[in-house]
Amino acid sequence: MQDILKGKRGLIMGVANDHSIAWGIARAAAAQGAELAFSYQGEAFGRRVKPLADSIGSKLLLPCDVEDTDTVDAMFGEIKDAWGGLDFVVHAIGFSDRNELKGLYADTTRANFSRTMVISAFSFTEVAKRAADLMGDGGSMLTLTYGGSTRVMPNYNVMGVAKAALEASVRYLAADYGPRNIRVNAISAGPIRTLAGAGIGDARAMFAYQKKNAPLRRTVDIDDVGKSALYLLSDMSSGVTGEVHFVDSGFNITSMPCLDELKK
Ligand code: NAD
Repeated sequence: MQDILKGKRGLIMGVANDHSIAWGIARAAAAQGAELAFSYQGEAFGRRVKPLADSIGSKLLLPCDVEDTDTVDAMFGEIKDAWGGLDFVVHAIGFSDRNELKGLYADTTRANFSRTMVISAFSFTEVAKRAADLMGDGGSMLTLTYGGSTRVMPNYNVMGVAKAALEASVRYLAADYGPRNIRVNAISAGPIRTLAGAGIGDARAMFAYQKKNAPLRRTVDIDDVGKSALYLLSDMSSGVTGEVHFVDSGFNITSMPCLDELKK
């Protein structure tokens, strides 16, 4: 399998550093011939993203904070000026106050509920609308979610509610844009050690639990997610839209800890 994204231009949103899931996807996409643009949230992240973008020959590095719609518009304006069109977009953005990613979900504040929903769920809709305007020949949109959207995961709290909204958005956007041959999907990744992942209470314990109890008896890494993203971003998945595809070592199919663990 070679060059399955050759001739395609894609925007990658959500690289914070070389541990980011977005970076795993970007690296895989670049290796398959894609030309990439990157967005970054603020100058501090920009300084970290630049060498990564440089390392794969990317020339478009654009500021964008999804809490500020003007920066979203400005970013898409620059992409339009530089490329004229877009083939795919990867949205790997999420945020919630880490003080509320522990303890009871019931203690979520109104302010953090709203902020979490805007950054982690609504931003995908806002990005999708602008990206679709540049996808004259069809395209592929991909976001990142987590199984805490449909099942209760300790401490995931309001992020789980935001991911449920994000996954519903995937389905509605898939229906909106399907007639224009624009496909919209999500990858539901298992826990990965990233900046955002570290903000969730007891992250280490969750990580260890999944390692012991997922069918593959391991956690996934950003290369696992990158490889699956290639399928969803490329024509390999030309008939697939509105899906949430699990890349979690099979953890989502389990209903109890594995027997080896229980018998210990
Ligand atoms: P990360 O910290 O590397 O990436 C999160 C990104 O979100 C950062 O680049 C950050 O700049 C960006 N972001 C946050 N607020 C923003 C804003 N207002 N405007 C623009 N960008 C903003 O962590 P990650 O784990 O790679 O997260 C990427 C996505 O994957 C998130 O949606 C996360 O919920 C999801 N996810 C992560 C895991 C995991 O275990 N790490 C599992 C499943 C899903």
